Amino acid sequence: MSPAYRAVKGTRDLLPPESEKYAAVESIARQVFGGYGYGEIRTPILESTELFSRSVGETTDIVHKEMYTFLDRKGRSLTLRPENTAGVVRAALERGIDRMPRPLRLWYAGEQFRYERPQKGRYREFRQIGAEMIGVPGSASDAEVLVMLFDFLQRLGFIDLSVTLNCVPGGAGREAFADALRSHVRPRARRLGEDDRRRVEENPLRLFDSKDPETKAVLEGAPTTVEFLDPEAASHYAEVKEFLRESGIPFTESPALVRGLDYYTVTVFEVVSKSLGAQNAILGGGRYDNLFADLGGPPLPAVGFAIGEDRLVEVLPGDPREPRELWYVLPGSPEDFPYAMAVARALRSGHAGAVVETDLSGRGFAKGFTRASAILAGDADYPFRVSEVRVVSVGSQERAEQTVKIKTLSARREEAVPLAALTRRSRT
Ligand code: AMP
Repeated sequence: MSPAYRAVKGTRDLLPPESEKYAAVESIARQVFGGYGYGEIRTPILESTELFSRSVGETTDIVHKEMYTFLDRKGRSLTLRPENTAGVVRAALERGIDRMPRPLRLWYAGEQFRYERPQKGRYREFRQIGAEMIGVPGSASDAEVLVMLFDFLQRLGFIDLSVTLNCVPGGAGREAFADALRSHVRPRARRLGEDDRRRVEENPLRLFDSKDPETKAVLEGAPTTVEFLDPEAASHYAEVKEFLRESGIPFTESPALVRGLDYYTVTVFEVVSKSLGAQNAILGGGRYDNLFADLGGPPLPAVGFAIGEDRLVEVLPGDPREPRELWYVLPGSPEDFPYAMAVARALRSGHAGAVVETDLSGRGFAKGFTRASAILAGDADYPFRVSEVRVVSVGSQERAEQTVKIKTLSARREEAVPLAALTRRSRT
């Protein structure tokens, strides 16, 4: 029978064990980012539409055609957040950025929404894990953010990732670059699709976001961003590269990298995984020194990144879950359930971090052992990563004697232990 209701196109349910992997990744993010002084921020999924058109930019793909926007019952235009940086900046301004520590270090993890064509690694509801360092203009803050990012990726087992880096001028340099780009593209504009032709006049930097091969061909030989940097941005860029070299972080420079959001200036970067293909970056980030002022706040420099958590989990080289011991409490029959549950509680009180699961199916010893062995062998549906299984059998005899039988599956060793010893034993 096919179900009457299905998840909306482009959205997915995460069930164990997949959901446990997401939780493990988020927990490692909390540890690593926390170790750099970042506290977590949680902002609403709903924001006013204008927040994104002002920050991400009216002519970007995200705002132009990918936002989930609707009117609420009072006719206000609201949007499901397509990214989290704008919400973080709004929240900081609303709370009173002047009273907050400087630099302000914040990280987040949460759902984002974009109306894109769903495919591998691209969803309409997806998750991002990001961090923002607010209030420091110097290149050391870009470098620290990238070093932290690499610490995180290394903790997850990635070894061969490389940063793609570029520097995009702000202010007058940006205008000059846009003009030079227009002059390069205009004579060839007939080759462009309708959307890209509109971009030439409105916001030519956005041409670099185009996936159209014809547009990519037109952009070959175009002026590059780095030719238009003022001396300050040029030395900032040189310093970031020097920091990265000193920190042993591999990078390549890419003159075509501008990132698909208008608020980025100066440093921009991406990390691409080979297995996802060049279109699918795992993460992106950069400086956004004008965003606070653009949203009505003081001129505060900032730098940050957003990792696509779904893509990250898809290409993880290893299992992010901490291995756990499983104590599989197995009653011989339903009459042993109360005793089995008392045994499980005693075990839990002394084995923090272990999974203590009572088999309440009533399947009995033989089938219960088969189930426990299947879990140790790596049952693909089991929520946890199991390092060892100890089957704790309790039948009428154990109940009468107030003992349990513990069998360590990988060692094939079984021993009888008094109930009273379970909590005590486990504390040692
Ligand atoms: P952006 O906010 O566009 O800079 O994207 C940052 C990261 O979010 C990208 O590198 C992707 O890993 C991820 N991402 C963006 N859009 C999607 C999507 N539709 N589905 C899954 N991940 C996405």
